[in-house]
Amino acid sequence: MNTTPLRVLIHGASGRMGQALMRLAAESPANWQVVAAVTRRAPAQRVVDGVPHFAAAELAGVPDFDAAIDFSLPEGFDPVLALCVARARPLVSGTTGLSPEQRGKLDAAAATIPLLWASNFSVGVAVLNELVERAARALPGWDCDIVESHHVHKKDAPSGTALTLGESAQQGGAQPRYASLRAGDIVGEHLVQFAGQGERIELVHRATNRDIFARGALQAASGLAGRAPGAYTMRGLLFGDA
Ligand code: NAD
Repeated sequence: MNTTPLRVLIHGASGRMGQALMRLAAESPANWQVVAAVTRRAPAQRVVDGVPHFAAAELAGVPDFDAAIDFSLPEGFDPVLALCVARARPLVSGTTGLSPEQRGKLDAAAATIPLLWASNFSVGVAVLNELVERAARALPGWDCDIVESHHVHKKDAPSGTALTLGESAQQGGAQPRYASLRAGDIVGEHLVQFAGQGERIELVHRATNRDIFARGALQAASGLAGRAPGAYTMRGLLFGDA
């Protein structure tokens, strides 16, 4: 068992996700030690609660780390990927909106470092994907419908998570259909329904707090430590077929 905490670099540390990562890491000092917090602009304070802070322009000078966790914006992604490749360190990234060129760089980097990019870091959703594929495989001919609900500010529909669940259903042989609801302040709900003759199965995931994404990313960073280079998935790390 690893007795020393994983030294992590948090890229995008001042953002909503970055702050959740910093707080959750600080709550588990035996598991994670943030050795560098990186933000777009020069930090007001160099050291906050014992954590050294850096501006994005100072990335090359950050201390050694065991894994980087990136929840920033597409314009910040290339430098942190390049840093991880140069230092031969794993990268966990949840940054969305990457261009096809950036996805290409991500794929290429997986030849030299362990990498995990995911549109959803919830451990529960990773398990739901596994269950959906298994259910679809066991229920040939059943109708499969995916209903996702989110807050009124979410613009894209169906959600990226719903589409990933649909891919899992297709892997199991189902032909999923989608429906989207936008209402109130719902953080995120995904219902996958399998309907047969006279019976119905409903598999539901409800997110009530954005911390689930930060917690999953920290677990992913620990899961990548010591792994061979490659592109990993949350589902793969959880179910041992990474
Ligand atoms: P935010 O706007 O609150 O924070 C963005 C952070 O990125 C800030 O710390 C900012 O300083 C930093 N940043 C911006 N440009 C940068 C640059 N060029 N170099 C370095 N750092 C830079 O955003 P957020 O809500 O925390 O989300 C961050 C990203 O994570 C978004 O892409 C969002 O879609 C994604 N996200 C993913 C998941 C998931 O599970 N995969 C969950 C939530 C959010």
